[in-house]
Amino acid sequence: MKYVKDDIAEILVSEEEIDRITTRIAKEIDEDYKGEDKKLVLVCILKGSLVFMGDLMKKITVPVEIDCMKASSYGVGTESSGQINITLDLLRPDIKECDILIVEDIVDSGITLTHLTKYLLMKGAKSVKTCTFLDKPSRRRVEITPDYCGVEIPDEFVVGYGLDYAEMYRALPFVGVLKPEVYTK
Ligand code: 5GP
Repeated sequence: MKYVKDDIAEILVSEEEIDRITTRIAKEIDEDYKGEDKKLVLVCILKGSLVFMGDLMKKITVPVEIDCMKASSYGVGTESSGQINITLDLLRPDIKECDILIVEDIVDSGITLTHLTKYLLMKGAKSVKTCTFLDKPSRRRVEITPDYCGVEIPDEFVVGYGLDYAEMYRALPFVGVLKPEVYTK
């Protein structure tokens, strides 16, 4: 019997740590969006952010709406090409009233988050902020600092907690480093 977790070299963010991180970020969001004039909309970037989004939204106590977008960067294996394609758009007639918080799984080069922020502002959103569970600052190709960040990690290819390799490993309840032999086979 083959277990998915057998392909993991090391656990980087445990379930307990995930719980502490999501609680902390939800508190920060509660504090920043508590005004009556705010219309907070969490925008989950599919599919990687699905699990983080689910945990985070349950811990936010201020009024919140949710939505989804999908963006793909054409890439080969574990490398992104740098070209972003929006494959599921945010279609809201009330976008001008929305304080959008983009929820990402991981910021690597920063290209996806920068592109989506500019795109949503261009569409007329009242405000756009960014929230990521993982950040790999050493990999940045464009300058962007997420407004909310779970944890910084080294330059390693990680899976689990929503993140995949070839659509696998998303259901792992922790973030782990994938054994290189899995993607160099
Ligand atoms: P960026 O545009 O910041 O380079 O890339 C963001 C996207 O690249 C993420 O949403 C994710 O899909 C993918 N990505 C970057 N690093 C990793 C990683 O270590 N593991 C996985 N599974 N995806 C990654």
